[in-house]
Amino acid sequence: MCGVLGISCSNCHRGKQQVFPKLMTCGSDISHRGEQAWGIVTSDGENMFCHRQEGRFGEGITEQKAEQLSRKMQGHIGLAHTLYSTIGKSGQKKQPRSIQPAVAEFKGKPFALDYNGNVYNLSGLRKKAVAAGWKFKSKFSDTEVIVASIATSKQTDIIEVLKEVLPQLKGAFALVILYGNKIIGARDSCGIRPLCVGYNDNGFILSSESCAFYPVGAKFIREVRPGEIIVIGEKGIEKYVKWTDKTCCRFCIFELIYFARPDSRLCGGRTAYYYRNKAGLIMAKESPVDADLIISVPGGGDLFADAYASELGIPLRQGLFKNRLGIRTFMASRGTDRGALQRIKLHPLEEVIWGKKICLVEDSLVRLKVLPETALMCYEAGAREVHVRVFSAPICYPCYYGVDMATKTELAAANLSREQIREQAGVDSLAYLSFEGMIVATGLSRDKLCLACFNGDYPVEPPTE
Ligand code: SF4
Repeated sequence: MCGVLGISCSNCHRGKQQVFPKLMTCGSDISHRGEQAWGIVTSDGENMFCHRQEGRFGEGITEQKAEQLSRKMQGHIGLAHTLYSTIGKSGQKKQPRSIQPAVAEFKGKPFALDYNGNVYNLSGLRKKAVAAGWKFKSKFSDTEVIVASIATSKQTDIIEVLKEVLPQLKGAFALVILYGNKIIGARDSCGIRPLCVGYNDNGFILSSESCAFYPVGAKFIREVRPGEIIVIGEKGIEKYVKWTDKTCCRFCIFELIYFARPDSRLCGGRTAYYYRNKAGLIMAKESPVDADLIISVPGGGDLFADAYASELGIPLRQGLFKNRLGIRTFMASRGTDRGALQRIKLHPLEEVIWGKKICLVEDSLVRLKVLPETALMCYEAGAREVHVRVFSAPICYPCYYGVDMATKTELAAANLSREQIREQAGVDSLAYLSFEGMIVATGLSRDKLCLACFNGDYPVEPPTE
């Protein structure tokens, strides 16, 4: 999962302002979507300026460095990207090429590309690009295949290139491209990955999430529609183009459960907060708990816990404290000992937990690598009973659309019964939100959602390669 952002600032090119500080401010609001690396590209319409580095967005940018960057990153138009790579392991196998925005040339002019999602079955496009002279730097990067396909296309107009390339991409994606004085956004035909557009008096923004609009006072206009290309020029939105007629809306429900910030407007303008609050109320009816305290596992569980506790009339307490390092356990590199990471990330508070029957609140349960350690930490801190409530249904199928759960063997609920999971977690009770309850909590009809990791109904045919 990654965060994409593009800003076209119509006032900036009059020399008074640059787009760079806006990209820094708004980019920090999509940092939760990827903490492995980040990058910014700015342009004055002719020249491109680029900064990319590993780590969380803005990490290590001292005042002095920020000044240096402000001098270097000129222009009125730009992209920012936050990376969560599912193909490389940060620190083990360095992949500076996979840090975005990616930059290449099309018809002698530079373009930059931000990409979020996962695209597979790319061998056809890859072969074509090689035949046209592209030398691939990565064996696995879907981003590079997209970039290479644009750069080597025989078309002369970039929109025509996209109309040619996008139908060949199988999977889910949101793209933001900077070319000349334009920012171009495009979304997969089922609208699985999010992308929305906003504006203020200074110009237009494209972003994975509308929470990035707030710092610059921009208003949410709408989502980029499934199968749509939207072109933003110096005077505003220039055109909307459909790159396919075969569209549907199957928005990723996991954005509402875990990824998106609660204040972001997503599918149909609903906020992720709406889901988290409603799921709490539904869980209180479906699976109440006999506990003294409700405790949110910090990170994803806070809003669920709030609604669940107030509906049941049980006190909500902070019994687990988060290390300020703020590692999102789910986002730790694959292969890392997630249980050990949890001990670094969370610290139980004995004064709250000792002698109490507690109920831990989790947004989802993917691998069962973290929950046993969290429960053990609570028992060590003196909890009399530990109960767990999970505010999504059991995840039984892999995701091929860009969320890091790509094999069935790693999914707890695909391989163990509910009772086996409870036993292995070492807790007194465990309940998930029901599948139906989860859909009701979205406020959307079932046919508007991708639910594939819960029910195996994939909106886009899964990969064969
Ligand atoms: Fe989201 Fe699950 Fe669909 Fe993947 S399979 S896009 S995580 S709902």
